[in-house]
Amino acid sequence: MRLTVVGCSGSMAGPDSAASCYLIQAEDPLGRTWNVVLDLGSGAFGSLQRFVDPALIDAVCLSHLHADHCADLVGLAVWARYGPGGPLPPIPVFGPRATADRIGQLTDHGRGERVASQLASRGAAGSFDVRAWAPGRVARIGPFEISPYPAEHPVEAYALTVAAPSDRDDATATLTYTGDGDLGPGVSTAAEGVSLLLAEAGFLEGRDQVAGVHMTACQAGLLAAEAGVGELVLTHIAPWDNPEGAVRAARRVYGGPVRAARPGAVHRV
Ligand SMILES: [Zn+2]
Ligand SMILES: [Zn+2]
Repeated sequence: MRLTVVGCSGSMAGPDSAASCYLIQAEDPLGRTWNVVLDLGSGAFGSLQRFVDPALIDAVCLSHLHADHCADLVGLAVWARYGPGGPLPPIPVFGPRATADRIGQLTDHGRGERVASQLASRGAAGSFDVRAWAPGRVARIGPFEISPYPAEHPVEAYALTVAAPSDRDDATATLTYTGDGDLGPGVSTAAEGVSLLLAEAGFLEGRDQVAGVHMTACQAGLLAAEAGVGELVLTHIAPWDNPEGAVRAARRVYGGPVRAARPGAVHRV
């Protein structure tokens, strides 16, 4: 499978990147390429169009419902309804239990607006086929098998482990996207032995002390080392922080390859 970084800026879009959004692609045995989007944060739907025709998105998988991970579902909903070839069949969206309500909030134009009532009657939120994550239950989307693990974050959130045919050999490749969250048993299990760990490093060692929200780059490195992953990509670094500093911090505790996510980077897994 291939992982393309669409947006990686932490907590909001930054000057050089949209907020969290990653495209994973893999071929099925018949040679058809499947396109799954992991998170669709603020600013990301614009960048996403550089990498995939929105009409070809097979599913969107949400780690959680903070705006920097789901706000641009609005753009996808409008594309699905009014874009070329639309309206498209409902796009599967996997997420926390409140996902349908969140989409309703995002697409509600306010009472009394005529466009809003037209959209509602035609089902703007109906652009999506919403399904709730259930830990222990694997979501199968074409060649992808995606497993959610509860994350340590102030809202219902999941680390997502993806298994799919490798882009390097005939084996199965695995990647874990931590979503947002502090160290904890869920993300440790999710990351165990995976080929690539895409780990958030939203906090800075020594500055951000609140537990149960984000990891630091050092903690992401510890997670990578303890889980024995093949390589580490750090993401969700705030626009005011330095990705190279995060890479140096992680390298002090993890001996494998470490890179900072950057928009447009393609990782073959
Ligand atoms: Zn976030
Ligand atoms: Zn969050």
